[in-house]
Amino acid sequence: MSTRQAILDWCKQTLQTDLYQDYAPNGLQIEGREEIFKIVTAVTASRAAAAYAVEQGADMLLVHHGLFWKSEPVTVTGWKKDRIATLLAGNINMAGYHLPLDAHPVLGNNAQLAGLMGWETEYRFGEQNLLNAGRLNTPQTTAQLCADLQSRLGRTPVAVGGERIIKRIVWCTGGAQGFFQTAIEEGADAYITGEISEAQFHLANETGVVFVSAGHHATERYGIQALGAALAQEFGIETVFFDERNPA
Ligand SMILES: [Zn+2]
Repeated sequence: MSTRQAILDWCKQTLQTDLYQDYAPNGLQIEGREEIFKIVTAVTASRAAAAYAVEQGADMLLVHHGLFWKSEPVTVTGWKKDRIATLLAGNINMAGYHLPLDAHPVLGNNAQLAGLMGWETEYRFGEQNLLNAGRLNTPQTTAQLCADLQSRLGRTPVAVGGERIIKRIVWCTGGAQGFFQTAIEEGADAYITGEISEAQFHLANETGVVFVSAGHHATERYGIQALGAALAQEFGIETVFFDERNPA
């Protein structure tokens, strides 16, 4: 058993949340009971994740994508009300860690994806250190890299920029297609992220730098699980990961 405050303090310190300028609050977003025996982790605080936390008898839902974003209306209505009502009715805490959980050098989504894929991280760079640069241990073609992503993430990636030999890679999990230009300037052979927009097709073709969209959910499943495992070890509490078949 632990307390909500002890867990929040540990996460704040470990993830160094104060160092980030985020567009979502990092830490507690919905307050529930004080004692924590069990945590459900999930990529997103969806209605399904909230319902699962209730079903599991969890004391906390711990996520990468919480419920409050700067760009969204601040009113609590419709689907947002449903999610919040489910958590409040269950007296379940909900805590979210966004950019700090992308960038953390060990527990972060970028680091965990690299570990899963066997990529070597050389350094972190770019806006708030959200980009990772490294090398493939063995150079791969675009098709080989995609086959590897497919087999380890269970989702078919979208690659543009053509077939070439890839050695130097830059990656950032989630919806980071906007950093493609930064990756090009860094001298990458390929940039791997979670989502693709229209513009990246042209940029990839015109620069010869391969762009791979491997799935927002698929690339961000691992940081929150690593955080859950670290909390389980630190506090001796039970953690369960709730996965959703989100193809985006
Ligand atoms: Zn994300």
